[in-house]
Amino acid sequence: MVLIDGKKVAAEMKEEIAAKVKVLKESGSKTPHLAAVLVGHDGGSETYVAYKIKDCEAVGFKSSLIRYEDNVTENELLAKVQELNEDADIDGFIVQLPLPAHISEEKVIEAINPKKDVDGFHPENVGRMVISLPSFVSATPFGIVELLKRYKIETIGKNCVIVGRSNIVGRPLSILMSQKAINATVTVAHSRTKNLEELCRSADILVAAIGVPEFVKGNMVKDGAVVIDVGTTRVKSDQTKSGWKLKGDVLFDEVAPKCSYITPVPGGVGPMTRVSLLYNTLLAASGKIYK
Ligand code: NAP
Repeated sequence: MVLIDGKKVAAEMKEEIAAKVKVLKESGSKTPHLAAVLVGHDGGSETYVAYKIKDCEAVGFKSSLIRYEDNVTENELLAKVQELNEDADIDGFIVQLPLPAHISEEKVIEAINPKKDVDGFHPENVGRMVISLPSFVSATPFGIVELLKRYKIETIGKNCVIVGRSNIVGRPLSILMSQKAINATVTVAHSRTKNLEELCRSADILVAAIGVPEFVKGNMVKDGAVVIDVGTTRVKSDQTKSGWKLKGDVLFDEVAPKCSYITPVPGGVGPMTRVSLLYNTLLAASGKIYK
């Protein structure tokens, strides 16, 4: 069994990005600039955005953080999105989700200029991805595909079962895995899927993106399968200083011995999600997607 080291791969990618930024700067081009809009004080969102800013610094990007209180109006937020769309110094920006209930996430995402949509959530980018045109691909699916590529995991003709059909993980990943560059045969499962255990057992590549800790048990995985665990649920723990622990969607101790490859939680998909946003920002700055 090979433990897929997302932390190591992400660190390598970060170095590659930093080297490209150095070349850009030395050639007199502008420094790539990522902006993040954060609404409210949700603990998870605060942490994610802090990481994004820190990651920018690590690779030599410029970053800006724009903060609003929970009571910001939809119109105020949309006006800021418009301002960022028009700001020539900003190459890409993200609006951290979730947003408070009185603001339509859909409206906000659709207001972002697709050329600056480094989260890859805008319908134009999703549509371009579906028909294999250059696009910003959302960070987690991009990171998973990059892990498979860098570990040289065979995907051609393999049965790939993805459990979870969210717009940010399961569904875009299913599209990428079925594309000609990857050539897997893909099944997307969800909470209404029948015979899920049997279906999972048929997978050569099993991706769990559910958000239910330790949902995938040993008897749901075939010998030699590749298992990608996307889940990250914070659960109480008396074994850590903080009193919390991150749990994946896979019961690791039971499943790992059966796998050819498996991602751990933490240290598997998570670091790849972080670095993928940097990758997209570099693409945006170099104008490589929308020429
Ligand atoms: P989501 O939007 O809540 O979607 C969960 C999906 O799982 C849904 O499609 C749901 O089916 C399906 N599901 C839930 N319970 C199920 C069950 N018992 N059997 C079969 N399918 C079931 O979640 P998400 O945003 O995709 O995130 C999934 C997990 O990945 C979460 O733990 C999240 O924290 C984590 N995550 C991690 C990263 C990372 O970088 N590591 C990035 C993104 C997300 P229905 O559609 O039928 O409801």
